[in-house]
Amino acid sequence: MVRPAANQAHNQDLALRQRERARLLALRYGSYNSRDILAAAVNDIFPGRIAVVSSFGTESAVLLDLVAQVDCAIPVVFLETGKHFPETLAYRDNLIAHLGLTDVRSVAPAAEDLAWADADGTLWKRNPDLCCRLRKVLPLERALSGFSAWVNGRKRFQGGLRGQIQVFEASGGRIKVNPLAAWDPQQISTTFAERRLPPHPLEAAGYASIGCAPCTFKGGDGEGARSGRWQGREKTECGIHQAPW
Ligand code: SF4
Repeated sequence: MVRPAANQAHNQDLALRQRERARLLALRYGSYNSRDILAAAVNDIFPGRIAVVSSFGTESAVLLDLVAQVDCAIPVVFLETGKHFPETLAYRDNLIAHLGLTDVRSVAPAAEDLAWADADGTLWKRNPDLCCRLRKVLPLERALSGFSAWVNGRKRFQGGLRGQIQVFEASGGRIKVNPLAAWDPQQISTTFAERRLPPHPLEAAGYASIGCAPCTFKGGDGEGARSGRWQGREKTECGIHQAPW
């Protein structure tokens, strides 16, 4: 039996080593462009041990387009919370076909978790932190089992906890790769135009940042793009970027 103190020491040691690894990766690859950072991570640093996580939101096509340029078969995890707008699910399927992605995994919450905590589907209203944990954080942890690293599309301009993100970060025993960390809204809109990427269907309706339907409101732009998420609450993140889990 592993003693709690020994377990804690092991986790601290792992976190220290991962932080040092992230620092060294940033020194070596931090000046590369986004596509080359992604290619290096997929082909050289974590071959066969890296996945991409995407919300298929308003800006997701930019990262997924880079994924398709590097390797269409990289595993892409989509957290199918059961609370998405139908338009997001249609957009996911549209982007998969448009970009030729071959391994998009829609990951659902555990049925037993929803049965004890969210039988009536209103947990988002009563306890959004627990709802995000059951519908996003735990499913992601299960989906990333066996992977050493994951890629996501956060940008510093999004502000809040995202304002300081580095291209490589240690997170929950894995390395998190943020190839778009330095991008700005202009670069995103230019890339959509140049690469002829289809927009999320709800963007034209006034949604700047799109997550689950009950927790997403219209509005937000540029640096305040995420202001439409969990409006009226202090909550600004779902928890998947607040490791360790
Ligand atoms: S964003 Fe809202 S509905 Fe989605 S998992 Fe979190 S609390 Fe639940």
